[in-house]
Amino acid sequence: MDLARGGLGMPGAALLFSLWSLFIPNLLSAEQLMLPPPPPLKQHVIVLGIDGLGSHNVWRHEELGTPPPSIPTLSKLMADGAWTLQAQIDEIAVSGPNWMGMLTGAPSSRHGVRSNDCERGAGLETIFGLLRRSQPAISITVIHEWATIYCYPEENSVNTFVKTSTTAETTGAIISALHRDLPDFIFVDYDGVDAAGHKAGGSSSTYRQAVEAVDQGIASVLTTLDELHIADRTYVIVLADHGHRPEGGGHSSAEYPVPFIVYGPGVRPGQISEAVHNNQLAPLLAHLFRSGPSPDWVMGLWPFDRYL
Ligand SMILES: [Zn+2]
Repeated sequence: MDLARGGLGMPGAALLFSLWSLFIPNLLSAEQLMLPPPPPLKQHVIVLGIDGLGSHNVWRHEELGTPPPSIPTLSKLMADGAWTLQAQIDEIAVSGPNWMGMLTGAPSSRHGVRSNDCERGAGLETIFGLLRRSQPAISITVIHEWATIYCYPEENSVNTFVKTSTTAETTGAIISALHRDLPDFIFVDYDGVDAAGHKAGGSSSTYRQAVEAVDQGIASVLTTLDELHIADRTYVIVLADHGHRPEGGGHSSAEYPVPFIVYGPGVRPGQISEAVHNNQLAPLLAHLFRSGPSPDWVMGLWPFDRYL
């Protein structure tokens, strides 16, 4: 047979075509298999820092002889998350050293912020700077009632600052940010509880009502996560800088410990029995965003890694 002159003839060509046709579905399948996998769904983290929320003030009302606050949302976050009411705080039991500690993972003796003034102390890198440096495209929104929070992030590390004045405004700003921008990271400073503690003391009905207002605010945030169908990929972290003495604030052991609650996808529920510190927020956030570590951190992720 002379193959060079088209020896296959029409029947041969038809046979080849048939055989080739048989492979088409397989070839398409192979091509489909070569497509890159879909990107993983983006995760979100919301830190709810509640200024002045002391464990003694909220969860030891029996000892204080005060009525328990109604906090169904905080209770839900604890029931479904990893939590402790024994988180330690900075040796200086006021806002500035603790907020900077949470943001840098270091104590005031190292980060250098020892007051509530607008200062950056020794200039340690905050979690905002670390995330911006390691993930330039990350979107970060800071919503804060206490003006000094604005002083801590590095320049250009935060995309959006929202200054609010009341618990309701802060909650509204969180919900607006979720609907409008859906940032990767929302950092919130609620200040109403602290204001109530300074005004009337940590065992007052004023303080209790302020805690209940924040609890209702968190409930609205959780409802929004459900509405936006992102509850299954959003972490919610609740912690505090310090508590209050029953009769008012001021550098005493009654102002600590504070709650530290981690709630979100894959978090193993349970009470964290090991000692933790509120300045472990920085390594925890870095872990959730797959960034870090920082040489400034005094404590690492442990024991939170047992619950993630
Ligand atoms: Zn404070």
